[in-house]
Amino acid sequence: MTPKHVDVVVIGGGIAGATAAASLAETHEVALLEQEQELAHHTTSRSAAVYIENEGGPIFHRLSTASRPFFEDPPGADHPIVEPMPVLSIGDESMADALRDEAAEAGRITPTLRFVEGDELFDLCPVLRRGTVAAGMYEPAAGTIDVMGLHQLFVRRARRHGAAIVRSARVQTLTRHADRWHVGSEAGEWTAGVVVNAAGAWGDQVAAMAGVEPVGLQPKRRTAFHAPTNADIDGMPFIYSGIPELQCYAKAESGGQLLCSLSDETNSDPCDARAEEIDVARAIDNLNALTTLDIRSVRTTWAGLRTFAPDRNPVFGWDDRVDGFFWLVGQGGCGIVTSPIAGEITRSLLETGDLPESTVALGLTKEMLAPRRDDGV
Ligand SMILES: Cc1cc2nc3c(=O)[nH]c(=O)nc-3n(C[C@H](O)[C@H](O)[C@H](O)COP(=O)(O)OP(=O)(O)OC[C@H]3O[C@@H](n4cnc5c(N)ncnc54)[C@H](O)[C@@H]3O)c2cc1C
Repeated sequence: MTPKHVDVVVIGGGIAGATAAASLAETHEVALLEQEQELAHHTTSRSAAVYIENEGGPIFHRLSTASRPFFEDPPGADHPIVEPMPVLSIGDESMADALRDEAAEAGRITPTLRFVEGDELFDLCPVLRRGTVAAGMYEPAAGTIDVMGLHQLFVRRARRHGAAIVRSARVQTLTRHADRWHVGSEAGEWTAGVVVNAAGAWGDQVAAMAGVEPVGLQPKRRTAFHAPTNADIDGMPFIYSGIPELQCYAKAESGGQLLCSLSDETNSDPCDARAEEIDVARAIDNLNALTTLDIRSVRTTWAGLRTFAPDRNPVFGWDDRVDGFFWLVGQGGCGIVTSPIAGEITRSLLETGDLPESTVALGLTKEMLAPRRDDGV
């Protein structure tokens, strides 16, 4: 079969691949190749869909903040992609000082974020149990994301600019000669000057296929579930408990339903992740200890892989040892909220070698995101 020639092949049809294809297609010929029959089959369709800025450490925080203008006015959207929903990170008495300090530090990037305690805490979230919960960090300008709507926005934009979006196209070979990548897939062959590795949990496997040294990605399974409650959850903030023996989170959805998780992190190989019953049971115990939600049954369960680099920061940038190989992986638990700026960063690094000005203004450097930052890049 004769190969098709494009400027860029993007590997992976989750949110990372979709945002990269959307941004790049405006100025490049792009083909996005996804191994599954449908796009977003893996981690992207399994998230909690929360827009939190202060999550994942200072680098992710800045990337989420840089994505806010997109969410406030998403180009091409016919409905809001983010609906307001405050976030309340809760702790016990022993965590009050740490939460106060974190709120002060994170408040430098997100000024509306603040420490809360006493009656205000229970006014903000009446289902919390006094005595068990004593302090919190409140992020009022957070929200809930229409993840599939967001993914579709990126895919539509990519297609509008001529990108080929190809499903059932598992990439099986990646070789470079005469300044071009030769990409062999289940759906045919492509050649391209640049490959964008947006393969999520499979990122290191894709790199190995190309003869590129892996960056040490570790996929970690997280189980989530939907549960009904009779409690009044109208206006309830997203609750995240960082109390070590009572870890969990809960998000109010429509129809008296909660989306819950233990916030578990279990190492996994790249795979189609499945829910663990024990993690569901422990999450229910913890949520019932912290709140009056009185969860007694479960409607649906699922799991997804959150994939981390060794330092738990994102890996966005050119590989410095192999020409034309760009990494867009390691988004951990923040790949949805950071996706708008991830696409812009990809395009900016491809075209100019530098980060977009909006991210530089927030204190980010390309070295912070570079694949081999541990080598003193
Ligand atoms: C329970 C849970 C809750 C979460 N909550 C949030 C949240 O509230 N907010 C947030 O921002 N993030 C959240 N996340 C994290 C977020 O979902 C991820 O960071 C994000 O989806 C990662 O996107 P991705 O495109 O990198 O990965 P994926 O969606 O997994 O996409 C990678 C794609 O690459 C494809 N692929 C792999 N190898 C090949 C190959 N050889 N050829 C072709 N295609 C290939 C795969 O099939 C897959 O579709 C959560 C995750 C989980 C599991």
